Amino acid sequence: EVRRRTESWTGPGRTRDGHPVAVLANVQDGAGARSAAASAAEGVGLFRTELAFLDRDTEPAVEDQAAIYREVLDAFAGCKVVIRTLDAGSDKPLKFAGPTDEPNPALGVRGYRIAAENPGILDRQLDAIAVAARQCTASVLVMAPMIATVAEAAEFAAAVRDRDLVPGVMVEVPAAALLADRMLEHVDFLSLGTNDLTQYTMAADRLSAPLAALSDPWQPAVLALVARTAADGARVGKPVGVCGEAAADPLLACVLAGFGITSLSMAASAVAATGSALSEVDLARCRDAAEAALGATDPQSARARATEILRG
Ligand code: PEP
Ligand code: MG
Repeated sequence: EVRRRTESWTGPGRTRDGHPVAVLANVQDGAGARSAAASAAEGVGLFRTELAFLDRDTEPAVEDQAAIYREVLDAFAGCKVVIRTLDAGSDKPLKFAGPTDEPNPALGVRGYRIAAENPGILDRQLDAIAVAARQCTASVLVMAPMIATVAEAAEFAAAVRDRDLVPGVMVEVPAAALLADRMLEHVDFLSLGTNDLTQYTMAADRLSAPLAALSDPWQPAVLALVARTAADGARVGKPVGVCGEAAADPLLACVLAGFGITSLSMAASAVAATGSALSEVDLARCRDAAEAALGATDPQSARARATEILRG
């Protein structure tokens, strides 16, 4: 019966008592966006643009980039679409952006840091996004990956606003979570990338199998950073979403809603199960589960406590 309910979930995302939590899709190209649009996703919370260019030897021209962005925007006409600027480097090296021979690439010149070394790449990408945005009816937001300082957030926000687009930054470095209130003075929204936030909080490579127990978004230290970022957003009335894998865990999604997270973005295949889980619990229960998980000392008990409250 649960299965039938899951399959028939049609959105929009909300708790049983009607508190809205947008359920969005993560996409990487037009084809993926079109199939995500067939799910109940209300929009796109993370368009990983670097994945559209992994096979390119050279930087695509502005017009070529705009055409690719436009495919995604057209698939979600009239909906919210968050485009992430290139997150090259580390586990996603791009031939035309950034160094590839760093000894420790996860801590190296990746994501927004590439803009400091080569600002033209970001400028041309923002130009292409602006062109695509003008040609479609989607509501376009633009966010930067791997932001670590308030100065980076301010600089990025200014470049995005110059093109009449709406800026946000990803919170995937603990430094950004700790200063979320000051980041929010410059940007219109935050999006927690819990994959990298977990990696950097726990100092555990997200691809390392032996460290899988540390690479768990239920780690109370990670939950504490998420809770604090969500609270900072709520205080100033600006949206704080989650676009890492954590959003695709239906139980954790309810906990995130309890922290005050305003949107959850995930693989299209997880949209129905997450939306359905949210629709079965009241916000007050999500808040209780969030508080209980936060008070745990390890990920197993955080999950067990939340499960007991959410299913109880
Ligand atoms: C994340 O780090 O959680 C995230 C959404 O970005 P990516 O997985 O592309 O690094
Ligand atoms: Mg990331």
